[in-house]
Amino acid sequence: MKKIAILGGGASALMCACFACKNSKVVIYEKNDKIGKKILATGNGRCNLTNVNMGSFAYNNNIDNFLNRFSVGQTIEFFNSLGLETYADEEGRVYPLSNSAVSVLEVLKNYLEMQANVEFKTGCEVVAIKRNDSSFKIEFASGAQENFESVVVALGNYANLNMFEQFGITAKQFKPCLSALKCKVDRVLAGVRVGGVKVCCKFEDGEFCETGEVLFRQDGVSGIVVFNLSSFLARRGICKQTISIDLLPHMSYDKLKRNLLNRKNKLQAYKAEEFLTGFFHRSLNHVLIKNAKIKADTKVSNISYFQIDTLCDIIKNFELNIDGFLDNNQVCHGGVNIKDLTVNLESKKHKGLYFIGEVVNVDGVCGGYNLQWAWTSGQIVGKLL
Ligand SMILES: Cc1cc2nc3c(=O)[nH]c(=O)nc-3n(C[C@H](O)[C@H](O)[C@H](O)COP(=O)(O)OP(=O)(O)OC[C@H]3O[C@@H](n4cnc5c(N)ncnc54)[C@H](O)[C@@H]3O)c2cc1C
Repeated sequence: MKKIAILGGGASALMCACFACKNSKVVIYEKNDKIGKKILATGNGRCNLTNVNMGSFAYNNNIDNFLNRFSVGQTIEFFNSLGLETYADEEGRVYPLSNSAVSVLEVLKNYLEMQANVEFKTGCEVVAIKRNDSSFKIEFASGAQENFESVVVALGNYANLNMFEQFGITAKQFKPCLSALKCKVDRVLAGVRVGGVKVCCKFEDGEFCETGEVLFRQDGVSGIVVFNLSSFLARRGICKQTISIDLLPHMSYDKLKRNLLNRKNKLQAYKAEEFLTGFFHRSLNHVLIKNAKIKADTKVSNISYFQIDTLCDIIKNFELNIDGFLDNNQVCHGGVNIKDLTVNLESKKHKGLYFIGEVVNVDGVCGGYNLQWAWTSGQIVGKLL
């Protein structure tokens, strides 16, 4: 039986092993003391394992050719066959019925541990891959070495991309994406969530516009919409960008103005700091009134028509100047150039060397797309081995 090495013990590696073990002896090398640690952190501990609304629209590269070969339906079916029950939420995001990422890791691990020809080698850090006549020599931090005819690289965004140059593989350095973004935020907004807002910004080659929830932090902004925006910035190599948030996308400028003029009449005797009560979170109301240069203790009846216009402008176009990415990114943009790989994710120049998961330059937006790429790429390669 052929013996293959899978370097890395994350999502893509485990999926690959589930299929490769049908015809080959598989050895999984993982530097951590346990496999699949990252899976446990996904989806805030719930693991958003895929999305029923699937397609290349969610990725930086066109990967339809891969997604068609191990689709969302096949992925869910496969997990069901391992015993994992799943459900999709109203946005198409698929989770385990247990709402626990532990279940996802456990069904994969349980299956693999029952296979006689799968071996886990944890605490094994790969430091080099070298070509050795017809095979590949894997070198480990411990000084140990092993030879394999086929090697699957599943090292995620931890991979040292220089390691692959010798195989004629080009790569783009990893850049964080799906992360919170750094910007100056008024102190009182830290911790405030605003739902249903529309975040937009323009690029030379198009624009980003998405509606959802934004969470203000001390050092910037977060939330799914912001994460997705970070991907658009990372893919274009942009760190600094002015973004506009429409805090009331479902109300036109004119309707908002009429509404505020009406409130000016209705709430004449109130203080300006109460003018927006009922619109937004108290702290956001405070910031909007302040930015419109309205004194908090002035009477509503004294708010000028010019100030009402300014307030409408600020509510419809709340600007933030993004100044970089914050830590704790979920994925990285960059990695091995997919053009250097065959349709089976094998090196075009070195037969037997495969790349799966995040080490390949494929990144998706939030919603289960990154794990789907890990499952799809892992299955395609595993089935071949
Ligand atoms: C907090 C968080 C939440 C996320 N939530 C979601 C979500 O809900 N849905 C979704 O679709 N995606 C999510 N993602 C992204 C998703 O987890 C990744 O896209 C996916 O895990 C990539 O799989 P992979 O197998 O390519 O890499 P990884 O899962 O990163 O696996 C790589 C493995 O290789 C090991 N390794 C690295 N270097 C070496 C070495 N030199 N020697 C040996 N082993 C090594 C690592 O320890 C790791 O176990 C999330 C990511 C994070 C960080």
